[in-house]
Amino acid sequence: PESTDSLVDLLSAAARRFGSRVALDFFGATTSYAELDAEVARAAGALHRLGVSRGDRVALVLPNCPQHVVAFYAVLRLGAVVVEHNPLYTAQELAQQLTDHGARVAVVWDKVAPLVVGRGAVETVVAVDLTRALPPLKRLALRLPLGKARAARAAMTAPAPGTLAWSRLLAAATPLPADHPAPGAADTALLQYTGGTTGTPKGAILTHHNLRVNAAQGRAWVPGLRDGEETVYAVLPLFHAYGLTLCLTFAVSIGATLVLFPRFDLEQVLDAARRRPPTFLPAVPPIYERLAGAARDRGIDLTSVRYAISGAMALPPATVQLWESVTGGLLVEGYGMTETSPITLGNPVSPARRPGTVGVPFPSTDIRIVDPEDPSRDRAPGEAGELLVRGPQVFAGYWHRPEETAKVLLPEGWLRTGDIVTMDPDGFVTVVDRIKELIITGGFNVYPSEVEEALRRLPGVRDAAAVGMPVAQGGEEVVAAVVLEPDASADPEALRSACREHLAGYKVPRRVVVVEDLPRSQIGKVLRREVRDTLLADR
Ligand code: ATP
Ligand code: MG
Repeated sequence: PESTDSLVDLLSAAARRFGSRVALDFFGATTSYAELDAEVARAAGALHRLGVSRGDRVALVLPNCPQHVVAFYAVLRLGAVVVEHNPLYTAQELAQQLTDHGARVAVVWDKVAPLVVGRGAVETVVAVDLTRALPPLKRLALRLPLGKARAARAAMTAPAPGTLAWSRLLAAATPLPADHPAPGAADTALLQYTGGTTGTPKGAILTHHNLRVNAAQGRAWVPGLRDGEETVYAVLPLFHAYGLTLCLTFAVSIGATLVLFPRFDLEQVLDAARRRPPTFLPAVPPIYERLAGAARDRGIDLTSVRYAISGAMALPPATVQLWESVTGGLLVEGYGMTETSPITLGNPVSPARRPGTVGVPFPSTDIRIVDPEDPSRDRAPGEAGELLVRGPQVFAGYWHRPEETAKVLLPEGWLRTGDIVTMDPDGFVTVVDRIKELIITGGFNVYPSEVEEALRRLPGVRDAAAVGMPVAQGGEEVVAAVVLEPDASADPEALRSACREHLAGYKVPRRVVVVEDLPRSQIGKVLRREVRDTLLADR
């Protein structure tokens, strides 16, 4: 019988079953599953020689690229713990996380090596030279924050002191000693930082078991997938929980071909689609909108995509309609969080899916809807409340933050999600909003999502964010920032009064401010706390 305890076993199984199949495609350069498995063994040997052993954290600071995948599985093979980081983080953001987890070895994109050398407890930096894939990465480098672009240029002329080259390290690798223990189900696989939408990201401890179970739940969720035959587009970043699992660990578990993109770039995706058509596409609503728009306006054929799985933020029913009409495939919404490996609820992947809802709990997952003031009290059927989740994919706690852990992990294995939801009589769950972002005005609770939806319905409004601004008498008032359609002109006062048709008086924003754009997180969520900070600073 196959050992199926760890994520590494899933890769070995794919190499045995589908050895000659393309595992990775990076701008047309391919790696088969057999080659990937061998490369991982080589990298594990090399990292072992650098002193990485069981339980050690190893930092990865990489965009999506083949080396990212190899480093990920090599670290796991050693029984060590992967810690993912956004390579576009500023020096300060990186230093904060490196200090928090204390990794001594880091595998990084060569352009950001200067930002990692000597930070936190880092002793060894292995720099991955991505210059061969320069055209796409040059564009990425252009988006680096100013100080980082300068550091990046410096790194191009001289190798950062204190770094080893990944390619040389692998060339000189010796095999991992045969008796090096393989990781077990209960071992920590990942220290995965949360999205940072509501504050400083927290490191969630996820075990091999958590992640393996979630891959199996995902497999059961999309029964129509064919092992060894799918092509998954990794347009989401592998450093985020959602991209890492759906585009990597899950994809490997079904022996899929992964087409890797350093970031979402419409033209690059369309180019690749002509060469190697995608069949399974995990992404977020803004990406589906761009792709579906291209399919509609430019006649691009995306009918190869049978399943599109949206998560991380609300999926507008209009996006579902557009996507399904131009591709003929299904676009279904699921829900999850870093703390749940990440997916925990999903719509049926069939015409029975219900746009506007996040579906029903995954197999072997229990949910409750409770009073956020007292989570021991369940809400009456149909009433909104905080979602609690229990299941084998629920994390083991936050790294070095016992108080934060105690706040969310309740007795008997229940996790507080911090999200307000409702459930319809058939058990379909709808996400209303985050408790942390609730606006309290004149003694009433206002969900910002409701205000935003009313604004988005108005002609000329493309996007909106509602926040609570402190008022002199105490409490808050609703203020909204709106982004207009390209040629639209709208008077903020007129928008305010138009809202009255859809909103009770106390929910109508006291002020509407027109802005160029809304700040978003790495994965595309609107950062309401930044909107609020900007409005406060301008006051
Ligand atoms: P942080 O916890 O650091 O503030 P974050 O909560 O955004 O950041 P993630 O773990 O990436 O970090 O995101 C999980 C959250 O994303 C959920 O708690 C929920 O608020 C939101 N979310 C996930 N899926 C959906 C969905 N389908 N619809 C609406 N919101 C969703
Ligand atoms: Mg969160």
